[in-house]
Amino acid sequence: DGELKKEDLEQITELMDGFKASKALFTASELCIFDLLQSRPGLDAAQVAKEIKASVKGTERLLEACVSLGLLKSKDGMHHNPLYENADLAVRFLRSDAPFSLRGYIQHCNSTVWPLFSHLESAVREGTNQRERAFGKKSDDVFQDTYYNSQEVKLRFMKAMHSIAKVTGKAVATAFDLSNFKTACDLGGCTGALAYELTKAHPGLSVTVFDLPAVVEMSEHFYPQQKDNRVSFVAGDFFQDELPKADLYILARVLHDWPDEKVHILLTEIADAAAPGCAVLIAETMLDGQTPYSALQSLNMLVQTEGRERTASKYAEMLRKHRFGKTHVVHTKNFLDAVISIKIS
Ligand code: SAM
Repeated sequence: DGELKKEDLEQITELMDGFKASKALFTASELCIFDLLQSRPGLDAAQVAKEIKASVKGTERLLEACVSLGLLKSKDGMHHNPLYENADLAVRFLRSDAPFSLRGYIQHCNSTVWPLFSHLESAVREGTNQRERAFGKKSDDVFQDTYYNSQEVKLRFMKAMHSIAKVTGKAVATAFDLSNFKTACDLGGCTGALAYELTKAHPGLSVTVFDLPAVVEMSEHFYPQQKDNRVSFVAGDFFQDELPKADLYILARVLHDWPDEKVHILLTEIADAAAPGCAVLIAETMLDGQTPYSALQSLNMLVQTEGRERTASKYAEMLRKHRFGKTHVVHTKNFLDAVISIKIS
């Protein structure tokens, strides 16, 4: 009827304004405001503007927007001039040196995902990724032709993967009892972030990170402070080259990059390399209709790749075709869920 409920208006406004909030967060992160206020809490807008070399007028508005979004806190200084400092969320996730910093991922969202999403309508009409429209270049392979074409974009992408993998790594590494496995191979393991979490959680496990040569050559940028001899890197192409032998094959945020045909090619290779008793662990956000996260992530895969997010039962069905047995699913409540399955014959 004609009643306008406050909660409905709030919900619809939040959705309509979501993109403004995202861009305010990206901009504040890009301009290093959270790092600045971490080292010098209590600056006013004019001082922040000077440090980040921006207008006072624009900085004031961005800072107030960040306060309204719960990213910054302000208190009155002299003459009611607000003084700013990081709110809890910024301390935990937005400053660059936080253990769970998402700055790398936010930079990737701003520079890559945002332009791609601005072509979402075309992606939906055409059913294809929008890399050519967004970046002006035709590309067959999202990694080799788009991200790894320049060192700068490659490092930015790797930092993005690293930041999410650090936040989600422990939840994935501890989702299952892996004590039966001595060796693991993290296919598309990128910076090794998950591999280090795995060796930390499982003292008897060694992990080989397998990724493209362009990625492996940068791996030392991401070494942890404490050297870890149980993590090693092997360069190769998982669609072309022989896979390292392992008791456990891990695919974290890898299958969602590829269409079903390519997933089957990869699972065929793994099934050929794996003896009975070996296992596959898939870490992805599983489509389950519970939260918008996985459905939106699947749109992200549409604009960016040829892949998609899938349900846990879809992964189970795909694994069955390659002689893997009953799957066990853990919804971690972190960015990624996990599925494990043992090779039966
Ligand atoms: N597993 C990491 C994580 O969860 O943070 C990285 C996920 S990232 C979306 C996909 C990874 O697959 C990238 O590191 C990429 O370089 C790697 N990759 C893509 N194509 C590959 C190929 N043909 N052979 C080996 N690795 C590949």
